[in-house]
Amino acid sequence: MANKRDYYEILGLKKSASDAEIKRAYRKLAHQYHPDKGGGDEAKFKEVNEAYQVLSDPKKRQAYDQFGHAGPFGAGQGAGAGGFDWSQYAGQGFQGFDFSDLSGFGDIFETFFGGGGATRQKERRGVDLEMVLTIDFKDSVYGTTKDLSINKYNVCDRCKGNGAEPGSGTKTCPTCKGRGTVEIAQRTILGSFVRRETCPDCLGSGKIPEKICSKCRGEGRVKSQERIKVKIPAGIQSGQSIRLAGQGEAAPKGGKSGDLYIRIIVNPSRDFIREGHNILNTVEISFPEAALGTIAEIPTVDGPVKLKIPAGTQSGKVFKIPGKGVGYSDSSHRGDHLVTVHVKTPEKLTKKQKELLEEFQKDEGKRGWF
Ligand SMILES: [Zn+2]
Ligand SMILES: [Zn+2]
Repeated sequence: MANKRDYYEILGLKKSASDAEIKRAYRKLAHQYHPDKGGGDEAKFKEVNEAYQVLSDPKKRQAYDQFGHAGPFGAGQGAGAGGFDWSQYAGQGFQGFDFSDLSGFGDIFETFFGGGGATRQKERRGVDLEMVLTIDFKDSVYGTTKDLSINKYNVCDRCKGNGAEPGSGTKTCPTCKGRGTVEIAQRTILGSFVRRETCPDCLGSGKIPEKICSKCRGEGRVKSQERIKVKIPAGIQSGQSIRLAGQGEAAPKGGKSGDLYIRIIVNPSRDFIREGHNILNTVEISFPEAALGTIAEIPTVDGPVKLKIPAGTQSGKVFKIPGKGVGYSDSSHRGDHLVTVHVKTPEKLTKKQKELLEEFQKDEGKRGWF
């Protein structure tokens, strides 16, 4: 960071340079230093890029003109002795960089700034798979284990995935002549470049088997039906996915297998509502039961539970039955069952009931309640 060169100097420009001049200088130098070219210079290429990132953005350029490498926060204020880290600043702006007027440019930058370096390493990885599994409400409460049968590419058991017939020797890969990389010519606005990529046939090893595996024909994988046990933790919510690392499709020629995602759909319950880790329902009790108190039978996921309803219970009161709710994923404990009591007002009364209630009402009146 210390003694950084001036951005204008890097691009060979005066401070008064116009936008067009900045762009022109940048294109010329980027072309000159591009590391995929013979005589290119990666460090200089990056330097040119950083300078351009700042000077091509009016806001950043203004800030740079004003503060220089010290940055807008001044030297020593979180910027260190080397000044403000403009390269970081430039990096942040990178996603917003407009490639639209430099067609063909995106690829070079991607190679360069995607972390791949000059030789792009295409990792051979198997495809991720997703399966949807519908489970019952109770399975989501307690957790469960399900057996799945899935037809997918699996590692060839004959060659263990390397594609070679057991006992076969190796020979030099004819595609890359043992180099492990192939060169791909690419035309861009900056001219033609040659990009090196990992050889698709030997995947960089430079060697291929003398005899290919008779079972997978050298692919290292075969399609087959596989049984998979899936542990579904208690408390899973509808729509959540379980990731089974490495259980997706096998990659060709011994690459890394993809992952298998099991997306869980929980069938709703007819009797219960889930709220977090609690399970909710409603029971109806009669007006005398509410007034006099009773023992009510409450349906829970674990079966009916007897609950004492005290005398004088109001409609809408919620009672908690501990530990009858939804389990936590670590199986340590469960939420609660919350039952809301609904007091039913009788709609039809017999003559006797009517008389009794009228008597009751008179009595209440005497107590001064009405
Ligand atoms: Zn095989
Ligand atoms: Zn090769």
